[in-house]
Amino acid sequence: MKFSYDLLEEIRNRCDIVDIISEYVHLKQAGKSFKGLCPFHGEKTPSFMVSPEKQLFHCFGCGEGGNVFNFLMKYEKISFFEAVKMLAKKSGVSLPVDEEKENILNRQKERLYKLNNLAANYYRECLFKTNQGKKIINYLKKRGINDTSVEKYKLGYAPSDWDALTNFLKKKGYSYEELTKARIINKSKIEGKYIDYFRDRIIFPIFNLAGRVIGFGGRVLDDSLPKYINSPETLVYNKGSNLYSLKFAKEDIRKKGYLIIVEGYTDVLITQQYEFNNVAASLGTALTARQIDLIKRFTDMVLIAYDADSAGNMATLRSLDLLVKAGLEVKVIDLPQGYDPADFLIKKGRTPFQNLIDRSLSLIDYKLKLLYLKYGFQGVEGKVKVVKGILPTLSVIGNEVELRAQTKKISEELKLSEEAILIELKRYKRGEKDSSHNFIKLNSESGNIKAEKILIGCMLENEKIGRDILKKLKAKDFTVPLHRQIVEAIEKILKDDKIIDSQKVIDCLNDDKAAKLISKILMEETITFDGKIISGYVDTINNFKLTQERKNLEKRAKILDEKIKISEKIEKDDLKELREIVRQLKGQNIN
Ligand SMILES: [Zn+2]
Repeated sequence: MKFSYDLLEEIRNRCDIVDIISEYVHLKQAGKSFKGLCPFHGEKTPSFMVSPEKQLFHCFGCGEGGNVFNFLMKYEKISFFEAVKMLAKKSGVSLPVDEEKENILNRQKERLYKLNNLAANYYRECLFKTNQGKKIINYLKKRGINDTSVEKYKLGYAPSDWDALTNFLKKKGYSYEELTKARIINKSKIEGKYIDYFRDRIIFPIFNLAGRVIGFGGRVLDDSLPKYINSPETLVYNKGSNLYSLKFAKEDIRKKGYLIIVEGYTDVLITQQYEFNNVAASLGTALTARQIDLIKRFTDMVLIAYDADSAGNMATLRSLDLLVKAGLEVKVIDLPQGYDPADFLIKKGRTPFQNLIDRSLSLIDYKLKLLYLKYGFQGVEGKVKVVKGILPTLSVIGNEVELRAQTKKISEELKLSEEAILIELKRYKRGEKDSSHNFIKLNSESGNIKAEKILIGCMLENEKIGRDILKKLKAKDFTVPLHRQIVEAIEKILKDDKIIDSQKVIDCLNDDKAAKLISKILMEETITFDGKIISGYVDTINNFKLTQERKNLEKRAKILDEKIKISEKIEKDDLKELREIVRQLKGQNIN
């Protein structure tokens, strides 16, 4: 964590959560809390609660929750750092920063932005003022890209000379070293000369959300390869954490409620010309985790509009599963074979594309369609392959109701029992041992999980009880990973000699899921401070742990027992281990 507990506390104390949220949501007092319409999901009756006493918010409808920082991060779509900065400014708290370091970095970035901007302008001049550039404008027109798009996306042309841009920027006072760092020129290996990175290509400047040029894409004019090259990574450009044109898409995403993801620059340009402004390009078909995080800041629904070959590609499909796993609703626009969105719009027009959007398939349906095409509906073998193919997507569905609905549908289509599919799914999930989320799903709210939640609530609400509980339980005794993380944070805060409170834990973890869970526990669960009940919960957790340990020992004993029975020569170590296990099991039973 970048900020001290004390500093964050000072800011929080000066910024009452009710005041801050009131600036965004109309809140009405309801008993001890305040109530309003949730800004994070559409609703007509308020289920969004803000507690002045706990300084937390929680939506009973969609489960969003957290403290004042989490609210701002979510609503304003900003980082924790930015949220802290914003409230610090509001409340007049000054933030200590490593100013020197930050200034140097900021200056470097600033110079890089300026350099990129100069380069973009230079490329533009070349597009409009050279003969070759004029040819390109005609070529773009032929490909359906209109003047407005050329203007809006600041397209350009990189001349074919080896060092046109290098010379231009040198004259502007940039050194070779700087230009190399900006990855706009390369040092040639042969003669040690500096040469432009982009030559004889149409240039697509890449903008960040603030509208600054962070890098470039360059397309060849003929059929030579590579068709596209992109800027390498720099201080301001990171390939995997950007989506092309997201800056222009923001508003329309908010209006329409979803983002259309296409593959490349031209797809974006053409698609938005047909008034689908909620479009951005992934620049590659496999989405990265950082891109997914970025998307989630703006919407929870994406429509994939890749050409049929890319969309049906296994790597693409796997990356789309990641979107589902991140809780996004994913649909696939089922373009006819041989079309990308740009071709389709140009040849067929706006309404047919809108129809495709309206008829877009859920990711599961899309995958099923591909699997049916590949393996057919008939015959056991085909069905098994279809089920196997769909398991990765089924396994990332977090919502039990939806999962049931999907398995029911597949079972009807394939004439298989739902149970058979669910058994396969369980097997598949067990295959991924590390995926601890499944554990939660399979054991939905069993006794020990409830106990873990209530005890976390107790620790967060009462310092003394918290310390008492931690004498009997350690973080590792909590079976749900998120619970364990929260308890680890509590342990850390105690170790730092600070008083535990929910706010500190939320800030210390700086994790959206943890913030939501803490708010949920504190605002939905009945937290008790009754010593007897608390000991009961502690026992539940300890018993669960013992039962698990016993089960493991029994399993191991069984394996050893069988091994000893069938082998001709008994290994001494096996026998010793078995005796030890039996001794331990006996000991446990006595307890
Ligand atoms: Zn909500």
